[in-house]
Amino acid sequence: MIIILNKHISDTQKHAIKEFLKERKFKVREIVGQEETILGAVGAMRIDIREVSLLDGVADVIPISKPYKLASRELKKSDTIVQVGNVKVGGNRIAVIAGPCAVESREQIMSIAKSVRNSGAVILRGGAFKPRTSPYAFQGLGEQGLIYLKEAGEAFDMPVTTEIVSPKDVDMMLDYVDMFQIGARNMQNFELLKEVGKTGKPVLLKRGLAATIEEWLMASEYLMASGTDQIILCERGIRTYEKATRNTLDISAVPVVQKLTHLPVIADPSHATGLRDMVIPMSLSIVAAGASGLVVEVHNEPEKALSDGPQSLYPAQFEKLMKDIQALAPVVGKSLVRTPRIHMLENTEKSADTVQSGEMTVAFQGEEGAFSERAVYQIFDQETKVLPCRSFAAAFEAVHSKQARYGVLPVENTLGGTINEVLDLLNSYPDLTVVGEKQIRIKHNLIGLPDSKIEDIRKVYSHPQGIAQCADFLTNELSHAEAVPFFDTAGAVTHLASLADLSCAAIASIDAAKRHHMKVLKEEIETNSRNYTRFYVLSREEDAQEFRSAIESDRVAMVFSVHDRPGSLFEVLKTLSDYGMNMKKLESRPIPGKPWEYSFFVEAELIKSPTFEKAIGEIEEHCDSFRVLGTFKGDRA
Ligand code: PEP
Ligand code: MN
Repeated sequence: MIIILNKHISDTQKHAIKEFLKERKFKVREIVGQEETILGAVGAMRIDIREVSLLDGVADVIPISKPYKLASRELKKSDTIVQVGNVKVGGNRIAVIAGPCAVESREQIMSIAKSVRNSGAVILRGGAFKPRTSPYAFQGLGEQGLIYLKEAGEAFDMPVTTEIVSPKDVDMMLDYVDMFQIGARNMQNFELLKEVGKTGKPVLLKRGLAATIEEWLMASEYLMASGTDQIILCERGIRTYEKATRNTLDISAVPVVQKLTHLPVIADPSHATGLRDMVIPMSLSIVAAGASGLVVEVHNEPEKALSDGPQSLYPAQFEKLMKDIQALAPVVGKSLVRTPRIHMLENTEKSADTVQSGEMTVAFQGEEGAFSERAVYQIFDQETKVLPCRSFAAAFEAVHSKQARYGVLPVENTLGGTINEVLDLLNSYPDLTVVGEKQIRIKHNLIGLPDSKIEDIRKVYSHPQGIAQCADFLTNELSHAEAVPFFDTAGAVTHLASLADLSCAAIASIDAAKRHHMKVLKEEIETNSRNYTRFYVLSREEDAQEFRSAIESDRVAMVFSVHDRPGSLFEVLKTLSDYGMNMKKLESRPIPGKPWEYSFFVEAELIKSPTFEKAIGEIEEHCDSFRVLGTFKGDRA
């Protein structure tokens, strides 16, 4: 049952409720949410829930209707994020687990670990105990395989996962693995589930060969009831009458399971299809279906693999797959958890582009719920402190004056174009530098009060960019309403809430609507759904290395003005071309106080040192003024 507590419950009352339940052999879990705190109570004993609802401090009691209780969405509404070593899995992230079917030798696992890591895998897989259909097939290297797997994980800074097949191996394996894998054949091995659950370690729980979704979730309930809430569910194909593929990938299980449970769900296209050439298209459809990640088998020499060679990708195919996922992720509102390339690792412990930030503050323009805030949480982890600023200039000032370590500011939108003010500010803060880039998909919504109706709307508040990006909707479907510019989309929703006028609406994100309990009158009203905004991450020059060292830069942004003579801009662009620095963006801005003179902003592909410095030296010769605004890892699909 779910027990909703009164907002102002005292500690003594809460303690008394917990004791009442524990005496009746209930397992109690406290879940603190933004709106309310609840207790989840699961047990075998039948009690009349009216008894519980009468206890002091209880606001309401709701029975959980599903047979799986701790795993159900009814108990916990928010997505569970599973922490595997230094990698977070769940929510809007896509985490890719890759490696061979089985660890075959030290050289083999080292070589594969290096290549999958370089392509962007964040967790290494590799079986040491292989539950094979035939007793004569390769059974795995056992503990020696675990030793090699752990060594490869440590060498390439990836947590590792491997299958456990027997409860007697739990203690021995604890030291070697960051996440246990329960294989399809053992999904209903309840003694194994109980022993593994007791360890509290993360578990990758594969769906059984012929298990229903409910049976699969009951298996996760076994793990949870035994002591771990760190579970990742993995769809890996089910047995059907179809023989063209090894199994039948049940893609619709992904959204179904997401509705039923708060646990993250990922999928394994390798065992689902059994055929290498189907792994890439199925991986993309898994991502499109909304999964939080993939498990992919990769082998350096698949034709010689001791198990599952025909379904293992060549390293080059895996590299291509990761690029495709990176392009697709923002389209479906997800962000690929990436790792730095290996040669950047020497001086850093950071691993993801989600920099672990601790107490660090990040400034952005707008209110809570703004798209810029969403970008912040896609770059930094969820515990990051944010500093909402009223203007772009205030956000720059916050970083400059050390109120914030980083700033996340929009530079360009695919429909609205360049945000000139941000470029101009970059030019006027020489101590600030660009260290990162993030692209997010912008979905605008028409938001009203809970009782508003679309036909009654007469005024629509939003940021001018929001209004511009929804021009077609405003002209065709809301021609009777006046569009009123506001300093920020999320701020427009705050304003709407304070007006309490049924004829007013705002254009903003779903996050902003939820934050103020407003109603979404119409979703995704932007003129073109390929609507992305690109953000820069800024820091002071002295802190830049902290961010950059985690991610290999492949872009450079610069600003310059040229001599007033024929061909001077051409000379700069020619130098870029001569050095193979592919230009990605060129923008000109008037120079304040110098009528009809311009600064040029250029983004180009970064080339290696020392050739880069040589190219910059040559460019400077053609310029009146020149500055590298920063180097960063590009994030454009
Ligand atoms: C594996 O991951 O190597 C494996 C054996 O998977 P499954 O249990 O899904 O068949
Ligand atoms: Mn396999």
